[in-house]
Amino acid sequence: MANKDYYQVLGISKQASADEIKSAYRQMAKKYHPDVFATADEAAKKNAEEKFKEIQHAYDVLSDPQKKAAYDQYGSEDGPTMGDGSGFGGFGGFGGFNGSDIFSDIFSAFTGGSGRSGSSRNNRDRDGDDIEYTLRLTFMEAVFGAKDKEINFTRIEKCATCGGTGAKDASSIKVCSKCNGSGVINIQQRTPFGVMQSQRICDECGGRGKIITDKCKDCGGKGRVRKQCTKKVTIPAGVDNGQMLTVRGEGCSAVGKGANGNLILIFKIDEHPLFKRDGVNVSLEVPITVSQAILGDTIKIPTLDGKTTDLDVSAGTQSGTVKRIRGKGIKYLRKDIYGDMFVKLIVDIPKDLTLRQKAALKDMNETLAKAKYEQVEKYNKLIKGL
Ligand SMILES: [Zn+2]
Ligand SMILES: [Zn+2]
Repeated sequence: MANKDYYQVLGISKQASADEIKSAYRQMAKKYHPDVFATADEAAKKNAEEKFKEIQHAYDVLSDPQKKAAYDQYGSEDGPTMGDGSGFGGFGGFGGFNGSDIFSDIFSAFTGGSGRSGSSRNNRDRDGDDIEYTLRLTFMEAVFGAKDKEINFTRIEKCATCGGTGAKDASSIKVCSKCNGSGVINIQQRTPFGVMQSQRICDECGGRGKIITDKCKDCGGKGRVRKQCTKKVTIPAGVDNGQMLTVRGEGCSAVGKGANGNLILIFKIDEHPLFKRDGVNVSLEVPITVSQAILGDTIKIPTLDGKTTDLDVSAGTQSGTVKRIRGKGIKYLRKDIYGDMFVKLIVDIPKDLTLRQKAALKDMNETLAKAKYEQVEKYNKLIKGL
């Protein structure tokens, strides 16, 4: 985590008193608290979470007189950079685990202990990552669902060789001497709720409580490996473009007592040459002949199930007329009702007529009273008035 201007993060001046710092912190923490963003979209949630962590961290430094003094003098609560060549070595802890520790501590404080992480979990436990997988479906697979759809993806799994320990064998696992195997170091932290006892992950063993002397050759000591896997999933009828389906526990493996991640399928649905989809409704364009449009007819319309349904074209149908056929659309997801079908009738004007055909049409046209062309009549009247 790069050092941000902590005063700026809390929206206060460098001269702010301890009380001012505390009240600014409370206001900001309330504004960006995860509870407030519980129903917000992912991006807003993430942003708020980041912001909340920054606020936590800024307050952590500015509320501690020693850290504040170091920060004011050196621009870092750790004081002057040590000349050990590792640069951020002493500071690395804040990036991942410690940051989220502070986060969940305060989270519990606000919500009375009902934070995201269960109390039986400790710092060594971590949920497996979710995997997002774009699943391409044909138009009809989306409409009718798909059974045992095979998908291939990679995920991180527990290493089978070492059983997740990361060690070559049992004798290469030693208890960490710094934390005596607990994985955590107790520290006291000042917060607006008083002095709180909290824990930080042991930097020696990374929270595992153990040191591995000889690493497992297959996972390089990580205890987890990237693996290609194949799953069969059943897709319900009626899924739409961009919709997601969560397959619980099929994401990356957890660490310790954490929960496995989920496999999140995001549907991308191919277009159909004839049918267009709008939610649960389906539409198509059907060409009709001039005489069908003039005289009327009953025509067969293809339906999604591969059969047909009859549609009455009334005499005098204009090109572009849309007819609705109820219940011939797409099944509602997990409901036993169906959308509608919309048929747009397009009058197909014939080209390249023979002389005889042209003459016959002219004859017919001359016998038509002008009033029979309703739209032409209306238009002519309209432009005369301009
Ligand atoms: Zn291994
Ligand atoms: Zn340790």
